[in-house]
Amino acid sequence: MIDHSLPLVELHRHLDGSIRLETILELADQHGIALPANDVAGLAPYVHIDKSAPGLMAFIDRFEHMTGVLVDADACRRVAYENVEDAKREGIDYIELRYSPWFMAETHAMNPSEVMEACADGIRAAERDTGVRANIIGILSRTYGVDTCLKELDAILAHRDHIVAVDLAGDEVGFPAYLFQEHFKRVRDAGLHVTIHAGEADGPQSVWSAIHDLGAERIGHGFRSVEDAELVAYLAENEIGLESCPTSNLHISAVESYASHPIKQLADQGVKFCLNTDDPGISAINIVHEYDVAATAVGLSHEQIRQSQIDALDMAFLSPQEKSRLQLKVTQGRAL
Ligand SMILES: [Zn+2]
Repeated sequence: MIDHSLPLVELHRHLDGSIRLETILELADQHGIALPANDVAGLAPYVHIDKSAPGLMAFIDRFEHMTGVLVDADACRRVAYENVEDAKREGIDYIELRYSPWFMAETHAMNPSEVMEACADGIRAAERDTGVRANIIGILSRTYGVDTCLKELDAILAHRDHIVAVDLAGDEVGFPAYLFQEHFKRVRDAGLHVTIHAGEADGPQSVWSAIHDLGAERIGHGFRSVEDAELVAYLAENEIGLESCPTSNLHISAVESYASHPIKQLADQGVKFCLNTDDPGISAINIVHEYDVAATAVGLSHEQIRQSQIDALDMAFLSPQEKSRLQLKVTQGRAL
């Protein structure tokens, strides 16, 4: 279903939700960390979700064994590097990887600023080695509250030159977007882009708030926008694109089935979107899988999926020149 004459772009993937089982096992072994199993097959059921979990926060608990092995900067660098290698294997030409330095640092009391730097190092090295273009989105984990997020923002902005945008993730219901207006004013003042997780666990007012209070240019998930016709029209008219992650939505029980996923209805009404994996290491999927289910189970048309691939590049936090270069590289590369 992927059109190989176009760049394959993924814009919504959590770096710390994308750690190989083999890497978890190796890091645990090196650092004497206890795991519930000592081989890939045994560990998989503790990390992967293959059926619905009861809600977003239960899903976030599945990160335990991933963050559990992030013991130091070397571990972060390795995981970041492997994220880009995995993107290469999936045929991705450009990827935006996101992470919350506070969340990654917490288990082993690392310095969040060092986590930012180590991951950026790993990503840049892997870009050079693989030829995949990658950019970084810093995440504020709203679940930690307003004050801690200010400290997290300091750690992110200390590495401003390595990132293209800032996101807000975590408990959407308990920590609404408007609480973080001061944070995102600083983000915009720093010349960075804004994308916000909204309309996933909470309703349309959360998406409105992400746009009006925080200046969101894109929305992570956003499928509950479908509940508000005025919002759907606004998204379409203002070309605020949705970073859609159908399997992840199914896994947190936010939608009942692929067939009932609102992205089809939103696409029919002219809302821009792109397809993404969110946390492929937990959902046990890759981007090819998401394109496959979009065409079959979700019921998007061939043309809608092709358009979403075009829109993914359009929605990317790249300059127009970088987008043209990426398209040219794909056209020339695939012709060889
Ligand atoms: Zn996400």
